[in-house]
Amino acid sequence: IKCIGILTSGGDAPGMNAAIRAVTRAAIYNGFEVKGIYRGYKGLITGEIAPFKTQNVSNIIQQGGTILKTARCQEFKTAEGRKIAYDTLVKENIDALVVIGGDGTLTGARIFATEYNYPIVGLPGTIDNDLYGTDTTIGYDTALNTIMEAVDKIRDTATSHERLFFIEVMGRDAGFLALNGAIATGAEAAIIPEISTEVDQLEELIKNGFRKSKNSSIVLVAESPITGGAMHLAERVQKEYPQYDVRVTILGHIQRGGSPTAHDRILASRMGAAAIDALLEDQRNVMIGIRNNEIEYVPFNKAIKNDKPIDRELLNTLRKLSI
Ligand code: ATP
Repeated sequence: IKCIGILTSGGDAPGMNAAIRAVTRAAIYNGFEVKGIYRGYKGLITGEIAPFKTQNVSNIIQQGGTILKTARCQEFKTAEGRKIAYDTLVKENIDALVVIGGDGTLTGARIFATEYNYPIVGLPGTIDNDLYGTDTTIGYDTALNTIMEAVDKIRDTATSHERLFFIEVMGRDAGFLALNGAIATGAEAAIIPEISTEVDQLEELIKNGFRKSKNSSIVLVAESPITGGAMHLAERVQKEYPQYDVRVTILGHIQRGGSPTAHDRILASRMGAAAIDALLEDQRNVMIGIRNNEIEYVPFNKAIKNDKPIDRELLNTLRKLSI
């Protein structure tokens, strides 16, 4: 391997820039050339590629988003599209890839790597924290802090007006942001997809008397179709309890933005450096994970299994503390 290509793909996440910086600098430190590929897999098809030097990644560790841009690329899901991508890599003399993104990105990487026997190392870049084999993903901690700050503000108005707020947070089919966001803000409950098939969480909430002695309540809802979303739940409650002043806030894209927290910068830096170590050790088709503070190489098919379990202890803690 002489030249390493790097790209970001799927939804953007704070800390992706810190990861780009780390991969670039660690690669150059080890004597590799680096090329930046723009707009995810799309850039491999359109050939939007530029050489990256250390100064290309100066002054970006603190910036949200991704300087390489990101995109969703349908063409890469077809064999013809991936053939064009492979030809581009050969033409550009790129011998290995580091891809940063969520489960879709790593799925694409796994398929491509197998099809062309091509070395790829992945970094988990998504606010959803839904990749198996790593305690947290790049961007998750920043999103969680953004949620915490927003909910704190909503609580001020919720308390003043004695309202019941349903606040919808991101996470796709994962409840990490909702559950930990609820614990961090002292919310009354989190409605998450992971336990939706076990219990009707809204029913449980009502049964337990969700307002109790309190004069305001906040419930965090994961955006997933499995939970039905905040709007749907609020309508159900309002119908049954017209006396309550029910409101809905959908936090939306503010959750993706902003300067990454120290945790995400350090995570991205360690993972980026580890990606180059992995390539030096002839690893391929693995995602870099950090579990119990140790770097781990997680095979793509394990990382994207999509059954990262929610911690029951966290659920119980929320229940105990919201009485
Ligand atoms: P996030 O979880 O933050 O949304 P993601 O990486 O899961 O990020 P996706 O839109 O699911 O985002 O995937 C990003 C890109 O990965 C897709 O646009 C596509 O180019 C590629 N990709 C996803 N699934 C496949 C697949 N089955 N085969 C080939 N490529 C894929």
